[in-house]
Amino acid sequence: MGGLTGAPVGGLVAGRSAIVTGAGQGIGLEIARLLHEHGARVTLADVDAERAAKAAAEIAGGDAGSVLGLGCDVTDEMSVENAVRHTAERFGTLDILVNNAGITRDASLRRMSAADFDAVIGVHLKGTWLGLRAASAVMREAGRGSIVNISSLSGKSGNPGQTNYSAAKAGIVGLTKAAAKELAHRGVRVNAVQPGLIRTAMTEAMPPEVFAAREADIPMKRAGQPREVAGAVLFLASDLSSYMTGAVLEVGGGRLM
Ligand code: NAP
Repeated sequence: MGGLTGAPVGGLVAGRSAIVTGAGQGIGLEIARLLHEHGARVTLADVDAERAAKAAAEIAGGDAGSVLGLGCDVTDEMSVENAVRHTAERFGTLDILVNNAGITRDASLRRMSAADFDAVIGVHLKGTWLGLRAASAVMREAGRGSIVNISSLSGKSGNPGQTNYSAAKAGIVGLTKAAAKELAHRGVRVNAVQPGLIRTAMTEAMPPEVFAAREADIPMKRAGQPREVAGAVLFLASDLSSYMTGAVLEVGGGRLM
């Protein structure tokens, strides 16, 4: 994946193979769709295997051979390694990993249980680390690869009621930079994206007045769409960003700049 060597025929990631975690719906599904539209073979990995298979069939169209839906729990070491092995065997390589899977367990410090803290840290931070470790083992041998970790503006600013989530998302930034330094000389780039307020099932769960207040705070005066996050991920996954590693791109309509 070294250097800008001219426009790839068939899309920005033509001939590449990718895994997107948490791709059964929301931002992950749109990332998988956009990577596929740009020529990648894609594994949609989600804790809900049925949802992953359905999402894979939806984006495949008539091209079922280039899309795989897989049950994968990112908190489970074996499950993550299995997804990486399965993808590399099925598609011949693994060039792109997007660590996107996520959950929220919001509560004030007074009400948050240790189990809520562990669950959120487990999916976001440990899950991202497990994916990074498994995928980079394959990529470093190939001498190329791009890993994109989905953080959040909550990790930059901290959100009340999200001490677990904000800590995990800030942790993903440190993890991204440390891994980027370890892997740069092996041709593997590691970057992060920090979305702001995006319309998905995760934010639909917010009380409408909280959503409206957050939206009013955004300079662009609207929440973002999942595809607008996917665009930044595609850029980082492709050779258009060949000289970028350890970077954090904000996709928040100007919020918290
Ligand atoms: P979403 O619609 O809830 O999708 C997340 C997907 O991840 C779901 O299919 C979920 O399955 C799956 N998942 C949960 N735990 C998993 C696990 N252990 N292993 C594998 N998959 C798992 O959320 P989203 O809004 O698209 O969020 C995607 C990512 O963007 C997350 O990392 C989130 O923190 C981040 N983000 C979102 C926003 C936003 O405003 N929406 C803003 C900043 C950052 P279940 O539904 O079964 O749990």
